[in-house]
Amino acid sequence: MSAKILDGAALAKSIRADVAQRAGKLAAAGRAPGLAVILVGDDPGSAIYVRNKVKDCEEAGIRSTLDRLSASTEQSALLARIRELNDDDAIDGILVQLPLPPQIDPFTVIETISPAKDVDGFHVASAGALMTGQPGFRPCTPYGVMRLLGQAGAELRGAEAVVVGRSNIVGKPQALLLLQADATVTICHSRTRDLAAHTRRADILVAAVGRARMITGDMIKPGAIVIDVGMNRDENGKLCGDVDFDSASRVASWITPVPGGVGPMTRAMLLVNTIEAAERKQESHDA
Ligand code: NDP
Repeated sequence: MSAKILDGAALAKSIRADVAQRAGKLAAAGRAPGLAVILVGDDPGSAIYVRNKVKDCEEAGIRSTLDRLSASTEQSALLARIRELNDDDAIDGILVQLPLPPQIDPFTVIETISPAKDVDGFHVASAGALMTGQPGFRPCTPYGVMRLLGQAGAELRGAEAVVVGRSNIVGKPQALLLLQADATVTICHSRTRDLAAHTRRADILVAAVGRARMITGDMIKPGAIVIDVGMNRDENGKLCGDVDFDSASRVASWITPVPGGVGPMTRAMLLVNTIEAAERKQESHDA
């Protein structure tokens, strides 16, 4: 079997076009959507992520502001800035790029963002909404994975879904989204005894670990849909996922490439969350 490629770049493009259309409508009504991005410190990786997010906004017709704060910024100053943005009616979404310097507690920062503007979906209010099946912002990466599964025509109801990784930003919310879609979900992690025994049962396999090519073809059920969230550098410095693409693509029915799979979807779903935040605000103004 040779797997079909789940093209995240193409799907993200069509999502961005839809967001741009919705942003145009809001702008025409005098309510152009706005995203505030805060970068603390000068981590080069974070700077690239932030630059891409600002560029994505520009292209989709979403206004963005960028605060670049020094690495020595006190937590109190960052929290004060977030509160200002919470009160700013022109701002629909607030994103603080992680990781933060050691003097700043990321949990306190995230909890200071108004849940109505929590477009990363990391606030406990968003996590609680996801847990209880209420509307709210979904974290961008797992939200994007659900769209990719939709694109593959995956039948999630009753499917065996295995998520490898249990972080708060990917693994856990991914498992909850799959559960909400009526899959039977298993979460694996670093203490899982026999990882391959679990992954081999999976109709839907999501790898979110951060270890280059650790999931090999022999760990995959024939015909499975394989979603590779991982972004790693291999021994030659080449970008690769958690899944060994060559062996896995001989067994799976669908597979995401790295790059060009989940990454572009994560970026696109931030725009979706931002436009949804703006539309909700518009609706509540109109009500
Ligand atoms: P974390 O480091 O927070 O979590 C990794 C998870 O993998 C942990 O739950 C850990 O288990 C588990 N794990 C580690 N080793 C093993 C193992 N040998 N077997 C099974 N499970 C293991 O990472 P993130 O969730 O933040 O990210 C995961 C990957 O996804 C990274 O490569 C990251 O770069 C990438 N990523 C990609 C995005 C995209 O847009 N494409 C967005 C976000 C992340 P334990 O909890 O027991 O420690």
